[in-house]
Amino acid sequence: MISKLVDGLYPPVCVLCGESGQAGHNNQGKYTAAADICRACQQDLVQNEPACYQCGIPLSAAGNNPRLCCADCLQSPPCFTRTLAPYLYQWPLDRLVQAFKFQGDLTVGRMLAGLIQGNIEKLANAAVPDAIIPIPLHRSRQQQRGFNQAALLAADLAKGLNIPLRENILLRGKPRLPQVELDAKARKKNIRGVFALDARVAKLPAHVALVDDVMTTGSTLSEAARILLERGVERVDCWVIARAPKPG
Ligand SMILES: [Zn+2]
Ligand SMILES: [Zn+2]
Repeated sequence: MISKLVDGLYPPVCVLCGESGQAGHNNQGKYTAAADICRACQQDLVQNEPACYQCGIPLSAAGNNPRLCCADCLQSPPCFTRTLAPYLYQWPLDRLVQAFKFQGDLTVGRMLAGLIQGNIEKLANAAVPDAIIPIPLHRSRQQQRGFNQAALLAADLAKGLNIPLRENILLRGKPRLPQVELDAKARKKNIRGVFALDARVAKLPAHVALVDDVMTTGSTLSEAARILLERGVERVDCWVIARAPKPG
């Protein structure tokens, strides 16, 4: 009732074009991502399909195997089980991610989380994780930015999907060089040993979904997954908005 009233007073507008968004709230009064993006702009976002089941890299042909993997994953599989990266990191999605991450546009962040959620709900064979864990930012980075974009996405996903959020398990140690300036090999080296687990956490969840904004080489997610698996987590999946092309 109240959410319907709010929609009437402040009709949601599309974050990309400013036209009116799609219906703001569903029947249960729950927020739907579609409120903040119009149908036409949502269709402009390039779906990452078909993609590798394990690492989410775009594949050229789908085939009949729903767990089809890329050649790299067949040869040396990453330690995480499945990647969900519903979009390609290109226009206009890159603009949205940047508005969220660097300009702190939280409406865009909420909308992006809603888009991931919509794609997870569409998956018929999705194994539901026991907990959602955001990739932490180093404290100094977070202070500079004012928030951790992955934590905001993870919180929205946890709430929307009704899965526990475990924000304090994974810790980030010393700051390193920004990954964005490095090639694939250097990224792997730079990130090694950057994460730790909070020793006070007695019992780790068996199946975890790691949340980040964009997956590029996968080295950050891989390193976080490695630590969790080493300490007894049985399965790690990666949930991101988009897959970017691998650099170098
Ligand atoms: Zn629009
Ligand atoms: Zn792959």
